[in-house]
Amino acid sequence: MTTPDLQAAADALAIGISVIDRATAFAAGLPDADDHQSFLYDLAHAASAVEISRSLLDYGAKGDSEGKIACAFIADALADLHSKLFGREEAWGVGEGEIDPARGFISKYRAPEFVAQLATISAPSHLDEDFTMVADTFRRFAQDKVAPQAEHIHRQDTDIPEDIIEGLAELGCFGLSVPEEYGGFATGSESDYMGMVIATEELSRASLGAGGSLITRPEILTRALERGGTEEQKREWFPKIATGETMVAVAVTEPDYGSDVANLKVTASKVDDGWVINGVKTWCTFAGRANVLMLLARTDPDRSKTHRGLSLFIVPKPQAEGHSFEFSQDSGGSMEGRA
Ligand SMILES: Cc1cc2nc3c(=O)[nH]c(=O)nc-3n(C[C@H](O)[C@H](O)[C@H](O)COP(=O)(O)OP(=O)(O)OC[C@H]3O[C@@H](n4cnc5c(N)ncnc54)[C@H](O)[C@@H]3O)c2cc1C
Repeated sequence: MTTPDLQAAADALAIGISVIDRATAFAAGLPDADDHQSFLYDLAHAASAVEISRSLLDYGAKGDSEGKIACAFIADALADLHSKLFGREEAWGVGEGEIDPARGFISKYRAPEFVAQLATISAPSHLDEDFTMVADTFRRFAQDKVAPQAEHIHRQDTDIPEDIIEGLAELGCFGLSVPEEYGGFATGSESDYMGMVIATEELSRASLGAGGSLITRPEILTRALERGGTEEQKREWFPKIATGETMVAVAVTEPDYGSDVANLKVTASKVDDGWVINGVKTWCTFAGRANVLMLLARTDPDRSKTHRGLSLFIVPKPQAEGHSFEFSQDSGGSMEGRA
């Protein structure tokens, strides 16, 4: 059975780090990033994988199973970097065959039989006592409440059952990132992120759609409000988000604008008693069940201002069941959605 070799992993990783460092310096010198999108996109992914690999070396040192996971991940990250580089070395500003010296390490720890072993081991997370409790709590909920319903929800394309939403609300799931002074559990430290990540991970064991991702949308609005919301908005929305009374959907993506979010088209125009929002959004997960949409719209009609012309709105809406909804306002506005 192949045993982990963290020194070999560190040596192999150093090769990858060197490539990423030089490619990053090369990228910084390019006159116009827009002309080099494929390279920059690949570089961003490879740099993230190399950074994760670096932190996995510490994790790998904690035991045999941890070491195996670290070696397999690093070998995979380097193989991926190699495939991104192959034939594009000039675009990356590095030489040919730079990853070749790591081939021995990659072959050993990407061997199918070595990778297959990983499925049979269980490696401790090394979380502290508090986070272990968070993990246990959400894992139990995922096993007891989400897993038994997950297949039905996915196959029948049903709404998320209310007992899952209520159960998660009771566990404080939606308040993990809401500051304490507004009724949540966040203390403003790095560990707030960890709590949210651990809960998401544990729930996603049972189902990403019907478990883990339920945290994501309130989390996104919470972070945005914390950063850019007025005191009045925080007092209004944070307590309701934290208890799950207000469920959130995120309406950013449009039919023609996904990654290119800075150019989106939906407009919001100021009128006497509020705002008129006009346009089409897509991929708005949970739009029916949500009580508010966090909606990104163009408030400055000058499109050349790209992201600087955009504003975020919290749009209250009635809660709906099923695969479509249609609402209208006395003042003439209407909103419809289809899943
Ligand atoms: C399951 C699911 C749930 C979602 N939920 C929500 C939601 O709740 N709210 C919401 O607003 N949106 C949601 N989205 C939309 C999601 O945010 C978009 O799909 C995403 O932003 C990508 O946009 P796109 O699909 O238009 O793809 P595109 O932006 O058209 O990208 C297509 C491909 O081109 C690549 N690409 C794009 N730009 C570049 C570039 N500059 N350089 C190199 N490569 C590039 C991308 O990586 C991708 O491979 C959801 C999507 C999915 C799949």
